[in-house]
Amino acid sequence: MGTRECGHTGAMSSPTKGEAGLTGQWRTSRPVVDHEKCTASKAGKTVCMQCWTYCPEAVIPKQVPIEIDMDYCKGCGICEEVCPAHAITMEAE
Ligand code: SF4
Ligand code: SF4
Repeated sequence: MGTRECGHTGAMSSPTKGEAGLTGQWRTSRPVVDHEKCTASKAGKTVCMQCWTYCPEAVIPKQVPIEIDMDYCKGCGICEEVCPAHAITMEAE
């Protein structure tokens, strides 16, 4: 919500998801999940979840299968680095 929508009359706004826009547009490479390798997908439950734990943008929900919110993923590659099953690969946009 920006200043126009929230009713504030001064120069202030209320921070919300997406206040700075779709930050995924900054990305130059994207994480691709191989569900054949993902431990959680293979188990059918939320085990492992190292990607969820370490994603600095919190764009990986704790769910199975893993679905990354590409509107806000910045492509940092940390999820690829921490995945013990090598199930995430960064691919150029
Ligand atoms: S690339 Fe970075 S921001 Fe995107 S899902 Fe992986 S850890 Fe999160
Ligand atoms: S870190 Fe890798 S193996 Fe673990 S849940 Fe995430 S994608 Fe699956």
